[in-house]
Amino acid sequence: MSQRIAVIPGDGIGNEVMPEGIRALEAAARRFDLKLDFRHFDFASCDYYLDHGRMLPEDWKEQLGGFDGLFFGAVGMPDKVPDHISLWGSLLQFRRSFDQYVNLRPCRLMPGIRSPLADRRPGDIDFYVVRENTEGEYSSVGGRMFEGTEREVVIQDTVMTRTGIDRVLKYAFELAERRPRRKLTSATKSNGISITMPYWDERVQAMAEHYPNVDVDKFHIDILTANFVLHPDWFDVVVASNLFGDILSDLGPACTGTIGVAPSANINPEHHFPSLFEPVHGSAPDIHGRNIANPIGQIWCGAMMLEHFGHEQAGRAIVEGIEAVLAAGPEAAPLTPDLGGKGSTSELGEAIAAAIRDGG
Ligand code: ATP
Ligand code: MG
Repeated sequence: MSQRIAVIPGDGIGNEVMPEGIRALEAAARRFDLKLDFRHFDFASCDYYLDHGRMLPEDWKEQLGGFDGLFFGAVGMPDKVPDHISLWGSLLQFRRSFDQYVNLRPCRLMPGIRSPLADRRPGDIDFYVVRENTEGEYSSVGGRMFEGTEREVVIQDTVMTRTGIDRVLKYAFELAERRPRRKLTSATKSNGISITMPYWDERVQAMAEHYPNVDVDKFHIDILTANFVLHPDWFDVVVASNLFGDILSDLGPACTGTIGVAPSANINPEHHFPSLFEPVHGSAPDIHGRNIANPIGQIWCGAMMLEHFGHEQAGRAIVEGIEAVLAAGPEAAPLTPDLGGKGSTSELGEAIAAAIRDGG
């Protein structure tokens, strides 16, 4: 069976790192005998917007709905198109229409990358943040009263549903079950947020009964952020509501020094709709066109996509390829300038593809 992948490079360096993402996927596909079928799309980019007055064609759901994965570059051309148009008109439409209710970010300390945390070595930090992506604190329920007066009141509600919580917890528990440490940490704040967070805790406890092999603990979000910095080795899979997950999914990769090379995924776990894989970095107009953008974020996204398809071994081979090249260091490998090297985007991409082909 082949997997159908929609390739959407977007803007700026998205167009430069995307070919390297595909090169790595093709190397893994050859080695593990997978069939990947790529189709390229020019929409969900600001160039498309400037030509058509919209980010996406009218029938985008029909065009993309049948794919297994959306392999996305970056979107944004801040000098010509305001971010709220480019972002709202593309990624956020995908997330909502394709019910991508899990946001997944790996936090893994890679060789040769300096963590801002002292004395941490590869192997010490290796966990996932699983963020609820559709409800919670980011509901648009609420409003203002007595606007502009001394009595002004502003309210915004948090909406949590049993279905919404349970489905993201189920994903997180299943992920924890597949990992060697089988550990799940829940982010809460039930000591201060007295209605929604105790409910979140209850649902975690209820779900835990179905996963007796998974070791479960919980931390209040304030001390949890401290522990990300002080004891990142404690964590394996961390599951959090939309707001807490938003914070943790920036903090986690920052602790591993990888925000520039970090991948992320917006996942529909049931495969009813395509999931989306995109590097954390943006379109980086300041370095666009110079062939110096680091392609690792895009390549690592390809690994996450293969894992989502169930090709865990092939996904792992891509991550190992990245690690092998990073471990060689800037003297021996064509690392890009942000990694202290003199290599180009395409040279680094080729080196990683070669490492994937020969198994590290
Ligand atoms: P967003 O589009 O998400 O708002 P941003 O404008 O905040 O993103 P980026 O576009 O990611 O940020 O760029 C931030 C900085 O990081 C820039 O100086 C950019 O050159 C650098 N940068 C981003 N991605 C890469 C990359 N892949 N390789 C090298 N440098 C990068
Ligand atoms: Mg930007």
